[in-house]
Amino acid sequence: MSKQKPLLNFINGEWQRSSANDFLDVINPATAESIATVPLSIKSEVDEAVKAAKAAFQEWQYVPVVERIQPLFKFKALLEEHLDDFGKIITNECGKTYNESVGEMRRGIENVEVACGTPSLMQGSNNENIARGIDEHMFRQPLGVVTAITPFNFPGMIPLWFMPYALATGNAFIHKPSEKVPMTTQLMFNLLEQSGFPKGLISLINGGKETVDALLDHDDIKAVSFVGSTPVAKYIYSRASANGKRAQCQGGAKNPAVVMPDANMEMTTKILTDSVFGCAGQRCLATSAIVTVGEAQKEFTQMMLDSASSRKVGYGLDKETTMGPVITAESKTRIEGLIEKGVAEGAKLLLDGRQQSLADEFKNGYFVHPTILGDVDPKSNIAHTEIFGPVLSMMHADTIEEAIEITNNRRFGNQASIFTSSGAVAREFRNKAFAGNIGINLGVAAPMAFFPFSGWGESFFGDLHAQSHHGIEFYTQTKVVIERWPSDWSRQF
Ligand code: NAD
Repeated sequence: MSKQKPLLNFINGEWQRSSANDFLDVINPATAESIATVPLSIKSEVDEAVKAAKAAFQEWQYVPVVERIQPLFKFKALLEEHLDDFGKIITNECGKTYNESVGEMRRGIENVEVACGTPSLMQGSNNENIARGIDEHMFRQPLGVVTAITPFNFPGMIPLWFMPYALATGNAFIHKPSEKVPMTTQLMFNLLEQSGFPKGLISLINGGKETVDALLDHDDIKAVSFVGSTPVAKYIYSRASANGKRAQCQGGAKNPAVVMPDANMEMTTKILTDSVFGCAGQRCLATSAIVTVGEAQKEFTQMMLDSASSRKVGYGLDKETTMGPVITAESKTRIEGLIEKGVAEGAKLLLDGRQQSLADEFKNGYFVHPTILGDVDPKSNIAHTEIFGPVLSMMHADTIEEAIEITNNRRFGNQASIFTSSGAVAREFRNKAFAGNIGINLGVAAPMAFFPFSGWGESFFGDLHAQSHHGIEFYTQTKVVIERWPSDWSRQF
């Protein structure tokens, strides 16, 4: 491990050095060089963060909501001001291109904007005269201390799916970022510190499994938001629920797109190339399987091959780069192994992105170039496995019915897309597709912050999703008040 000073935790309004025994290197995936050291914080540090959060919550819950959103306006302005810094940090620790890094911050900032509308979003409901002289009201009140555990692939955006809503609704918030990309969160907490939230209300705790388990088992944590792989999502959902907590856990994906013969092939190719290979395929809404229907197969396959081969792979801060590396050496090995397994299962290797060289400076980076597997059997393992890299599986169907059957026969349900010029076909697909986010002539159907970010099947465990009114509902509990004020009583005094 390198000798760099470890990154700090932010607990009880102070930047603190962790007393962890274990530390990890944070690696720039384009160069394989260590750029920071992150602590794997221990249980006593979680306890300290929760204690501070609980104390801050005692007052924060009673601060009027119109006042609670004021620091969020400041935070939004600071995030905007530091977009370029975020762009560089995210690219260096996560690998994506500068434009992709800035893009994810913009999508995150949208959530801060929506959470500024919490005075309206968290309104309850009421009925006067449910019986004579009796009125009934429903209020929303915060839960207490809540936490979010986030993945490596969107270090800027994903924490913002949760934090602004949790705070605006009156909760205290603890963030555990991915240990692979902890530097973005350092900047984010620097800006939160300047935004005017009370001491102790927001904490950053770096770490891995031990840290997460301490959060999941802590009696004073009331709700857990998680985004990551499906096995970990299932684990967190079960352990948090068994401990009596609310949980919303987003998992992995294998997103299909159907290309109809009447689709605009040029537009479809451009959009799907971005969807499959953008962020080196490490997006939970990346298309990773395409089903061509009827005559679409020949023309589209060739266009996709040409477009994928022209992707410029390299370091994300180089202006001409259109695709960066994958996150770790293990990811690269796993992805290359899965390509091999796909071929062993009978797929045709139409474009092989393995073992292509880059300039000396990046020769150790974790690069996998665009890869396309053709004639993938819809029943094969590769058709159902989340690869999470720049690898496309192509399948074929004779009819739209067959295409829907292929795309619906899977355990993940994050996103499904169709490309067509027929409204009737699009409508049929929209209605029957098994997925929480549907794209029609769109390759990345990422809901705007004022819609919930859905997900079905093994892509989501829970009920209320991230973003918008789902976020507000997740972080609040309803209180129903029934009151009797007979009019003759008031006359007696
Ligand atoms: P991951 O599951 O490995 O890690 C996510 C978080 O969980 C990290 O903070 C990590 O420290 C923690 N963690 C990992 N293993 C743990 C364990 N055994 N016990 C407790 N905590 C643990 O995921 P990742 O590799 O960082 O992210 C990629 C995955 O996230 C992909 O599967 C991708 O599809 C998914 N993802 C899903 C969405 C969505 O909206 N559904 C969005 C982004 C990413």
